[in-house]
Amino acid sequence: MLALKAALWTNGNEQKLVERAIGAYVEQTNQLPETATCSGCHRTLPVKPTTFTAGQSKVTFLDVPLASCEECNTQTGSLFLMAALEEIAEQMEPGTVVSLTDLLSSNKADFVL
Ligand SMILES: [Zn+2]
Repeated sequence: MLALKAALWTNGNEQKLVERAIGAYVEQTNQLPETATCSGCHRTLPVKPTTFTAGQSKVTFLDVPLASCEECNTQTGSLFLMAALEEIAEQMEPGTVVSLTDLLSSNKADFVL
């Protein structure tokens, strides 16, 4: 099916088709757990839209589904998600502020993960 669709829509370029498909793909809800255990105090916390600033690049993502502990001043969430955001942040201008929702619906395949 990949080869057929690539033949129809991207002159047989399967990589280009996959990039377009990723750009167009949006789920209405995520598959993450609704709660997370704080890595500091081990309390159970709700996972909800949270501002997340990626390490060295200082790129800020809004509405990232994470659990925030005010006691420990830590954020806990999917390591896959945080790693993916860190990788995207490295490809962005330092100091950029972007909503995760906007990023997902931007229909761009600018970021190579
Ligand atoms: Zn805590």
